Amino acid sequence: MTPAATESPADLVITGCAVLTHDDRERIGFAQDSAIVVRGGVVEEVTGAGAVAGRAAGEWIDARGQVALPGLINCHTHAPMVALRGLAEDLPTEEWFNDVIWPVESNLTARDVELGALLACAEMIRGGVTCFADHYFAMDEVAAVVAGCGMRALLEEAFFSSQGAEGRERSLAFALRHRGAADGRITTALAPHAPYTVDDTDLAATARLAHEHGLPVHLHAAENRDQTEASLARHGVTPIEVLHRTGVLDTDVLIAHGTGIVESDLPLLERADGRTAVATAPRGYLKFAWPHTTPVRALRDIGVPVGLATDGAASNNSLDVWESMALTSLIQKSTEGDPRWLTSRQALHHATLQSARAVGLGGSADGIGGSVGGIGSIAPGRRADLVLVDLTGPHTQPVHDLAATLVHSARAADVRTTIVDGRVLMRDRELLTIDVPEVVRELGERLPALVDRSHGRRIQEYGT
Ligand SMILES: [Zn+2]
Repeated sequence: MTPAATESPADLVITGCAVLTHDDRERIGFAQDSAIVVRGGVVEEVTGAGAVAGRAAGEWIDARGQVALPGLINCHTHAPMVALRGLAEDLPTEEWFNDVIWPVESNLTARDVELGALLACAEMIRGGVTCFADHYFAMDEVAAVVAGCGMRALLEEAFFSSQGAEGRERSLAFALRHRGAADGRITTALAPHAPYTVDDTDLAATARLAHEHGLPVHLHAAENRDQTEASLARHGVTPIEVLHRTGVLDTDVLIAHGTGIVESDLPLLERADGRTAVATAPRGYLKFAWPHTTPVRALRDIGVPVGLATDGAASNNSLDVWESMALTSLIQKSTEGDPRWLTSRQALHHATLQSARAVGLGGSADGIGGSVGGIGSIAPGRRADLVLVDLTGPHTQPVHDLAATLVHSARAADVRTTIVDGRVLMRDRELLTIDVPEVVRELGERLPALVDRSHGRRIQEYGT
């Protein structure tokens, strides 16, 4: 116990719960009947419940019957697209983009983006998500929503080469303007949309800017096998090879999806410093009937972290990272033909430390206990981003294997309390920072103008 812990009241004490822990080899365990002490937005202590009895604290949460997990991280989404949830259903990728999504997105206003982001953040906080990586337009509005609602986010202004140099410059200006905002809860990246919408010149310029300004890069690449084949036919190289030859793979890069990654790409993704990461959002791959999923096992073999994601709700229909965790486990078992692969503990490792690394918030790498900063683990020195999950429901009892209960029996709706940087954003399922009925009311009024496609415009052309 540090002297400070005895001298002044902690900001928050959570007691009586089981706590998901990582040992020094990152193996997942659970400490029963534990307490978490939070001070200054940071986990100060994880100890036995008995050790905090009588301790003074600004806020005290009795969490008996619950499990404390690191908050879930949505490693790739387009949060404001919740406004388009269910608008383009049962379509192949090309028609989904060209006939519905990109025409509708040409109507987007800053207020639509803001309302969409508010609804998205409400959904994520309710589902135990404490941090998200967002790749969209009018991102100043999203940054304001993140600052107000208390979440943590990696934010990026997306661009296409069809916007000219201005798109790239706007992405950089956004990243520099908001980096470290909201008391450090906002981090930023450069965001070319994808190798099929951003040309090599712009990708190479992005890589240079990333080095110059110390910024990561987040983009879609090798989303599906069709894109890989189209790139080979058109350019003679895969999308991952495009990222390699333009220098993007020499930056801290987060690649969305990667279901089109092929064997020959793997040596390019293998990096001694481990700065490449991939985000997987499996529900959309099923829905678009893509024949492959993210090659999680091959990426693991070369040390590339795979974070969990939902993509936008226009394709995924929800921002439910809990579901992404369960689906990742199931789909990996099925595609590998191996029930022993992607165990519940592995799924929880993807949901926690691998997702934190994917969004650049893994903290220092020198062991969990001694790490400084970062998220994805409940340990002294880590930011206090965590959720309390109720396991008293009939669908989660009895508990023979807590990891299996969490991954395969529990649901996002079992999250009772969501905490970011030590601040409670949802208490006993009540959202404390977002007025959902008011957001839904105003968004509803705006929908007819938003979904109008009679103008015949679209923001971009999908033509892989
Ligand atoms: Zn996406």
